[in-house]
Amino acid sequence: MTWKNWAGNQKANPIKVHRPQCESDIVAVVGYATALRQRVKVVGSGHSFTAIAVAPDHLVEMTRYNKVIGLDADRLEVTVESGIVISDLNEFLADAGFAMPNLGDVTYQTISGALSTSTHGTGSLRTGLAAQITAFRLVVASGDVLQCSADENPEVFHCGRVGLGALGILSSITLRIVPAFRLHAIEEPMRVDTLLTNLDKHVSENDFFEFYWIPHTGWALTKRNNVTDKPADPPARFRTWVNKMLLENIAFGALCYVGRLMPFLIPRLSKALPSSGRTEYVNASHRIFASKRLVRFYEMEYSIRRDAVVEALNRVRRMVDDCGFLLNFPVEVRFTAGDDIPLSTGSGRDNAYIAVHVFKGMKYEPYFREVEAIMSDYEGRPHWGKIHFKTAESLEPLYPEWKRYIEVRNRLDPEGVFTNDYLRRVLGR
Ligand SMILES: Cc1cc2nc3c(=O)[nH]c(=O)nc-3n(C[C@H](O)[C@H](O)[C@H](O)COP(=O)(O)OP(=O)(O)OC[C@H]3O[C@@H](n4cnc5c(N)ncnc54)[C@H](O)[C@@H]3O)c2cc1C
Repeated sequence: MTWKNWAGNQKANPIKVHRPQCESDIVAVVGYATALRQRVKVVGSGHSFTAIAVAPDHLVEMTRYNKVIGLDADRLEVTVESGIVISDLNEFLADAGFAMPNLGDVTYQTISGALSTSTHGTGSLRTGLAAQITAFRLVVASGDVLQCSADENPEVFHCGRVGLGALGILSSITLRIVPAFRLHAIEEPMRVDTLLTNLDKHVSENDFFEFYWIPHTGWALTKRNNVTDKPADPPARFRTWVNKMLLENIAFGALCYVGRLMPFLIPRLSKALPSSGRTEYVNASHRIFASKRLVRFYEMEYSIRRDAVVEALNRVRRMVDDCGFLLNFPVEVRFTAGDDIPLSTGSGRDNAYIAVHVFKGMKYEPYFREVEAIMSDYEGRPHWGKIHFKTAESLEPLYPEWKRYIEVRNRLDPEGVFTNDYLRRVLGR
């Protein structure tokens, strides 16, 4: 079997594929592989652009270990099997009157894949997803199953909330949830210079603020989402289809194809993007946070100190002009609050995120390397699931609790049962 990730830039040819249905199946896979001195890698939905999920020997797919185990309405917690896809979890929670406090911009990922790479959304007072974990069970290289929380195996819990898949296999996961809420969404283009002048105000005055600067134009598309008591008022189905499917996927995809064939047209094609106008509606939070993404691309995303975002983005804008890159994908900018997780991109500081994209099949490396060089001037930490060129040596100084994580990994997986080439590069073995 050849496995490929969503973007098609990573492949694996594992010796064997395993599809566990219960925790003891996971323990058996780990025991089988370690007896043969082979390596094991779980793959979620394959939505990482890096080789983080590439399985050198045994590939474990959690498609049969993907159910909700229980919901505790009093404690505001849900416990799930680690292979559950986030969109399924959202539907379950919505039916029960609950929601995740924040989400990324798609929900195709498994919860364990998203947590393992420090997946995040936006919201200056909201953390990434991993900070919602209150407990998990971890199958480690010895075959033991560790119950981890702030009280049990607290050191493994502390480090394993963003584990990069390197500490063991997450079995069940308990997450903090909130009562279901609705968002009032306003999406509209703004001049990017005006937006950047008032950026602090936008970020602090909106619960969830993000924007996309469109290269080769002076425009940005903004999204302002605020918690509201107003009743749901989603656009009619046809209008939703026109906005979310036709404009954001089909028409945008067509522009990308034309741009790939005739790159010199890209600056002119880009002018079509900001003309989408203003939309305003109210809907359940999970329906607003996430969208469908049918156009495939490669992505790099850096988290940097929040106070550096205007300077960093302006440098990216100048660099694109100076280098003459022709880019048909917007640059996305988001914000989150800091957390206390050693390898989280939000570890110990409030963050801004700058994400750059290139249409599938087009050359990304020269552009991404230039962006990475800029982000490195602002203590930039790469998203673990998105393309970057850093190694353990350059990553270690960026994370105050790096050594703490490495000590836990050395203890739990001394032989590297869960490692692969990507982890060797970013963790040093
Ligand atoms: C279209 C698109 C949109 C995206 N949007 C966002 C976004 O808004 N915000 C953001 O932060 N990121 C975003 N991402 C990145 C994505 O969230 C991460 O790459 C995420 O890790 C993908 O989850 P997955 O289920 O596909 O995991 P995979 O990519 O398959 O795996 C990721 C890692 O998780 C490990 N893993 C999976 N399951 C387990 C388990 N049970 N135990 C231990 N380790 C495990 C894997 O071994 C691997 O190391 C996006 C990616 C795409 C393609």
